[in-house]
Amino acid sequence: MSLVDALRAVVGERQVLVDADVRAPFEVDWTRRFRGSAAAVVRPGSADEVVAVLRACAEHGAAVVPQGGNTGLVGGSVPRGGEVVLSLTRLTGLGQVDRASLQVDAGAGVTLAALQGRARAAGLDAGVDIAARDSATVGGLVACDAGGVRAVRHGTVRARVAGLEAVLADGSIVRRTSGLLKDNAGYDLPGLLVGSEGTLGVITAVRWRLVARHDARALALVPLASLAEAAELLAAVRPLLPSLDACEFFTDEGLSLVLEHLRASAPVELRAAAYVLIECAAAADPLEELAAAFEAAGVEDALIADDTTGRERLWRLREAHTEAISAAGIPHKLDVGVPIDRLAPFAAAVHEAMPPDARVILFGHLGDGNVHVNVLGPDPDDDAVDEAVLRLVAGHGGTISAEHGIGVAKAGWLHLTREPGEIAAMRAIKAALDPGGLLNPGAVLA
Ligand SMILES: Cc1cc2nc3c(=O)[nH]c(=O)nc-3n(C[C@H](O)[C@H](O)[C@H](O)COP(=O)(O)OP(=O)(O)OC[C@H]3O[C@@H](n4cnc5c(N)ncnc54)[C@H](O)[C@@H]3O)c2cc1C
Repeated sequence: MSLVDALRAVVGERQVLVDADVRAPFEVDWTRRFRGSAAAVVRPGSADEVVAVLRACAEHGAAVVPQGGNTGLVGGSVPRGGEVVLSLTRLTGLGQVDRASLQVDAGAGVTLAALQGRARAAGLDAGVDIAARDSATVGGLVACDAGGVRAVRHGTVRARVAGLEAVLADGSIVRRTSGLLKDNAGYDLPGLLVGSEGTLGVITAVRWRLVARHDARALALVPLASLAEAAELLAAVRPLLPSLDACEFFTDEGLSLVLEHLRASAPVELRAAAYVLIECAAAADPLEELAAAFEAAGVEDALIADDTTGRERLWRLREAHTEAISAAGIPHKLDVGVPIDRLAPFAAAVHEAMPPDARVILFGHLGDGNVHVNVLGPDPDDDAVDEAVLRLVAGHGGTISAEHGIGVAKAGWLHLTREPGEIAAMRAIKAALDPGGLLNPGAVLA
């Protein structure tokens, strides 16, 4: 029996996509930088079908690329040539919130927006937010250990995983979904699968840990003369803000591009070199706390938004960066992390290292030292840009991937951020769980 027939026998004919036109959206990533053709796209509707699909692929020696919402930014969610794309978007089961444990069971294909909706209806919050919330899935978020704008308060997605269910390359199941806070019987296999980017197993469901919902919010946009001042501001106010919920930064280059893209005018009369967006959230209005922290830190200029419309308007300036950059061209997109006090020297070094005609846009999650470096202009396939930025990151004591993952985009540079012994251990784990190298080959480990 051919591979396609074997897949059809498992999931039914309609859920195996072979026509080039129908496969096309699954074969190119969100950035349009990464693409390849798939042998087929298969869309299982249950964990049992995932088991049978992986067994069929193993029997045929077919490599598999797991895919959720396909919003990943490092090329790990699309085929490189001839793999089967395993789309998990039909796994949309979403349980009722368990109010005693503050947890909920979500299928891998549940979108972040749907999960947030379920949490909010129960008076709670998902504890994670990213601009791709309407498409990004629970499985993809966990597979990437995504971060986002609330990580400064709640940690990355890893902190939200109370347990998960996953299928390994040979079709065996790892199921740890009791949600017990204390369960240290043996190795933490779910912990190993978080951030494994589809290379060690296919996540089919997640037991998600929710957080308290804070409805009273205050948001401030602070214009500053430099990124060094941004880092100083954070250090001055952070200890005074127990309600700190997000702390983001962008620069005037990025703001100009966003305003062009949105056809909007600047909300700040005084344009500045850098901007910090600080949001506080609590059960009671956190505006007084924020104002007191700003006074102590000597902040004179700040645009405060304490109603929903004003907050959405300011957040749009930050959240529209990714789409505005994408609309302007195919960028070199490097999600990196540096110690917060290295942010300004790192940014200066990046500007200096880029070709003079390049448009360099830096923005990101200041509270996490997480910088999204975007370079427009140089050929997207010119690795020299990526190499230069990633070497600078390593030189500043940072990481080449903060929250987007390694994918295929950075697999060749893992050695800049991980020691040889650590990479050898990663290879040993990969060989033990996926000896045929069938799960997402080429991602994470080149
Ligand atoms: C506008 C925009 C804003 C973004 N903002 C952020 C942000 O603030 N923070 C952040 O961290 N990321 C951000 N991202 C990146 C992206 O949304 C996240 O990486 C997200 O976690 C990807 O989820 P997904 O379902 O789209 O996964 P996909 O893109 O489909 O896949 C991503 C990776 O996970 C693997 N994978 C997917 N599903 C599974 C599964 N069920 N089992 C095993 N492996 C799987 C894939 O093989 C691939 O390697 C943003 C992206 C966009 C487009």
